[in-house]
Amino acid sequence: MKRLLVLLLASMMLFAFVACDDNTPTPAPHEHEFGEWTITKEATCTEEGVRTRTCKGCSETETEAIPAKGHNPDANGKCTACGKMIVSNGADFLKATMNEGEVIISLQDDITIDIAPWRDTNDKSVFGTASTTSIVVEGNGHTITFHNTDSDWNAIYTKNEDAVLTIKNATIDNSGYNADDGPWNSHDITFDCNVVLDNVTATNAIAIGKNAEIRNSRISDANCTQDAYMLWIQATGQTVTIENCIISGKSSTGNKNRAIKIADEYIDEPKAVTLNVSGTTFSSDSKAAVLVTNTAGATINWGEGNDISGVAADKVNAVWNDSARTDAIVKVSGCKVIQEPSA
Ligand SMILES: [Zn+2]
Ligand SMILES: [Zn+2]
Repeated sequence: MKRLLVLLLASMMLFAFVACDDNTPTPAPHEHEFGEWTITKEATCTEEGVRTRTCKGCSETETEAIPAKGHNPDANGKCTACGKMIVSNGADFLKATMNEGEVIISLQDDITIDIAPWRDTNDKSVFGTASTTSIVVEGNGHTITFHNTDSDWNAIYTKNEDAVLTIKNATIDNSGYNADDGPWNSHDITFDCNVVLDNVTATNAIAIGKNAEIRNSRISDANCTQDAYMLWIQATGQTVTIENCIISGKSSTGNKNRAIKIADEYIDEPKAVTLNVSGTTFSSDSKAAVLVTNTAGATINWGEGNDISGVAADKVNAVWNDSARTDAIVKVSGCKVIQEPSA
């Protein structure tokens, strides 16, 4: 009986092969005979590819993943395949920025970058060269710690004033001089360059000196209990756009942390700031969602989807004007504005 079954199977298989050769539209059951694999999607450094093979008989296809190739950095850390700078520590990070044109840095680990005081004349921590046009940092979920080397004040800036620094998919933190228990200014991470933050979690307050786009990000500084603004905008005439963010000015003690300030302190010639906000949830211990003290004023475009119900001091007026006390210089659309109440 067993032998008969084997014979039967064998004859069926034979029939199947015959059917394949005949290229009949609906072949009888058969054992597939696959051809060579062909690559339908090439694997890259970081993404799997796909390969496919087809049965010679019935056009049945099989697909299989091809493992990602991994980066192949040269002696300078530049991947020979994708051109990204492959970086695993802070020293290599600074070195990697010193390329011309567009630089893409792919972080492989958490890194710490030494940051010098505000506009240190030694260019100790400057990013890029005069001909670096953009620096994109792919965080890959890692943490970038900006280490204040010797002062409360710190500045992250680019040698080329027009360059843009983009940080994606990362946590940013700071450490060093006074960072753990110092005043608000030692908590700030100060971007004195054009900056884009996308899917970034900032565990410290941020100060911005030039254009900024902040998307899908969270800014909070629960450890600072000394009057920090989560986003301090130095009024240099820039445009700041905030989309789909959480700005949480809540301290661990519930004491005085705030959301956004458009300020002219420490600036010789303040200029009007344009602020666009949408899809963003605010909370704070104190003050309004946005306080304007800039004597050169601001244009604030309050878009859809903002939530100020977690702002301690004012859940109605998103903007407090504390500047030259005239509505003429603070132009607001989409939300209510009032004069900051006297303390
Ligand atoms: Zn087949
Ligand atoms: Zn690569």
